[in-house]
This record gives sequence, C-alpha cells and structure tokens, in this order.
Amino acid sequence: MKRRCIVHIDIDAFFAAVEELLDPSLKGKPVIVGGLPHERGVASTASYEARRYGVHAGMPLRKAYQLCPNGIFVRGNYQIYKTFSKKFFRLISQYTPDVEASLDEAYLDLTRCRPLYCSFSRTAREIKQRVEKELGLNVSVGVGPNKILAKLATSQAKPSGFFEIRQGEEEAFLKDLGIECLPGIGPKAQVILRMLNIHKIKDLWGLPRASLRSFFGLNGDELYLQSRGIDSRPLVVASIPKSISRETTFLEDLWDRRLLLAHLAYLCDRLTLPLRKGRLFAHIIEVKVRYSDFRTEARRHLLLTPLQEMEKIYKVAQELFLKLFSSSRLSLRLVGVKASDLVRARPLSLFEPYSERSERLGLAVDEVRAKYGFGSVLTVREKMLESLYSFEKKRGYVLKTASLTK
Ligand SMILES: [Mg+2]
Repeated sequence: MKRRCIVHIDIDAFFAAVEELLDPSLKGKPVIVGGLPHERGVASTASYEARRYGVHAGMPLRKAYQLCPNGIFVRGNYQIYKTFSKKFFRLISQYTPDVEASLDEAYLDLTRCRPLYCSFSRTAREIKQRVEKELGLNVSVGVGPNKILAKLATSQAKPSGFFEIRQGEEEAFLKDLGIECLPGIGPKAQVILRMLNIHKIKDLWGLPRASLRSFFGLNGDELYLQSRGIDSRPLVVASIPKSISRETTFLEDLWDRRLLLAHLAYLCDRLTLPLRKGRLFAHIIEVKVRYSDFRTEARRHLLLTPLQEMEKIYKVAQELFLKLFSSSRLSLRLVGVKASDLVRARPLSLFEPYSERSERLGLAVDEVRAKYGFGSVLTVREKMLESLYSFEKKRGYVLKTASLTK
C-alpha cells in the first residue's frame, strides 16, 4: 500500500485566539473562555498565557480562578467562533475533498490529490500560512502517514509550529514520547501502565500483544498498534446531520407542569440516542412549544462545550422550557426539542473515551435498551407518562404524533 499523506491542523487556543483578535488589548494576557469566575461550568479554552498557571480546557471555572485570579474571564460567543470555523473549513477544503473537521481542528488526506502537488510538505506549509493569514489565527500543523502520527506531530508542533514525520522516522519520533501522548490513554490506563514501569512509548514495545489484551481487552489491540504508529483508519468524511429533533402533540392540551416536563424529559431521552450512536455532540439546544391558540414559540441555547448526555441536555431544555412556559397563560398542545450544530467530537479516542460518569451511564443504558427495548430503562420522570400513553417495552411510549425528524 502506498504511503498516505495526512495533514492535521489545529487552531491554537481557538476561542481565546478569536477573543484576542476581536479585542487586541487581550493579547499576551491569560484569557479564559467559558464563563465568569464564579459561574458554574467549565473553561472551554485557555490561552497559552493562562495555561502557564495550570488552567486547561474542561477545568471548572472556579478552579481556574483559584489558579489564575488575574485571568481575564470571557463568556464567549459561539456564533462568532462558528463564523471563523466555517471560514477555516472553506479554506482547507480547497486543497482536498477528503476532510474530517470539527470546530477547530481538521484532518486532510492529500493522498488522492497527489498529482496536484509537487510536494506534500510544501502544500501543508502553504495551508498553514494561508489559514494564519486569512483567518488571523495561529495554527499548528502535523504531517504523517496516518491520523495518529499526524496528530502526534501536531502536538509536537504546538503552539503555532509545523512538524512532519517523514518516511523512516516514525520509530525515532515515537520512542521517547510519554505514554500519555497516545490519544485515548486515560488516567486509569496510565496508572496501570506506570505500575508496570511503562512510561515511554518505547517501553510499550516490549509488551506482547497478548498481555496488552489481557490488561485492556480489545483496547489492548488498539494500544499495540497505536504505540507502533500503525493506523489504517480512513478519515470520517461522512456528512453529519444538520440537526436531530423530537417533538410531540399531546392527546389534549396540557397545563400540568410536571407532566409537561415528563414529556420533555422523554423527548430528550429519545433525542440523545441517535447522538450517542453517531458519536455526535450538539452546540445548540432548542425547545419549541405550541400554545392552545396554535401560536408557536422557540428558544435556543448556544453552548461553547457541546453536549451529548441526556441529563445535561434535559437540564438546558428544562430551563428553556420554563422560560417559555412561565410567561404563558395558555395550555400547550405541542412540545419539541432540537439539537443542532452537531459535531463529531473526540475523533481519536479509542479507549476510556468517555471519562465522565454520565456519559458512560448513557452508553450502558443504550446497551440494555439494545437488548431489551427502549422502554426497558426509563427515569422516574418519564414513568409519569404511564398514565397517558400505552407502553411497549420495545418502542417505549406510543405518543400521539411522534415526529422523528432528522
Ligand atoms: Mg485547538
């Protein structure tokens, strides 16, 4: 098989960099995007200056404030970041149709376009220069024969650099990297491996495949290949649905708040199933209601950190719903929830991909439902609908008009 050319591009500290572009006085300061210091929630991005204080994406804002009290905390604006992201995608798509992109990073497979370029590495450098010039944002670029090596090259290039792994250099590149560099090696796997006195990637090479499998199950195979820089996965260029929504009209107009929320919870539950299946996360959650006079209203919430878990999406949806409902004097005839601006997140996580308990729970629930039917697991809130609808263990509630749009 011919050696592929995969280019991985990552915008450095994306949200923070956009904020600096919009307000140049922020340049060189520790910028933390995601919310104000005492708000709930987590930091979505920390500028490199903020990282020096130990702040990183995913850290609770309060903790970020403790570490970096002089930090400049910004709520952030998803719509603006989205505009930049679209521009980024349009630009890189000029170089190849084979692009796997999320909001701020992308893999480009240049292999098929070989006849167009005299040198892959020159083209990769050109892409970097153009993105930086036309977007005004720094990017790090890694080039390698597959996704994992390209991504590892990018992490060497950060921030704002360029790193290429040439043919024959793979082993030398990998050997002294720490095992934590491998995507998907979570804290648990790290503890186990360190107990075995395995700290660098080259230490992994000494372990037979069978022992890795005995420690990590099927993930052990992945680890075996990853640690040797072997990765034949193609880019995931399949199109992502624009939105997924679930809505229903009630048997008769409803006013009871608890029952309305039970419907909403059930719809959120149905909504998150295809999200998990497609490994999709939503940046926008929208709730729609129709009043007894047929007026329709909707409210949306934009999220910097996209969500997938039922409980979290329900929380957002509930807040939106209550804003709509509490200002109404009419009963409702329909409620719906929609997830849009979907992204396929964490493209390279191979094992322990979901460190959060709620996410693992969702996957476990899916497994049970795949075996025993959707109705086999329901929350207490959802169970309230039992008095209204007939129930099938396989399909769940038989709603009046369950529209399952995609
Ligand atoms: Mg980035």
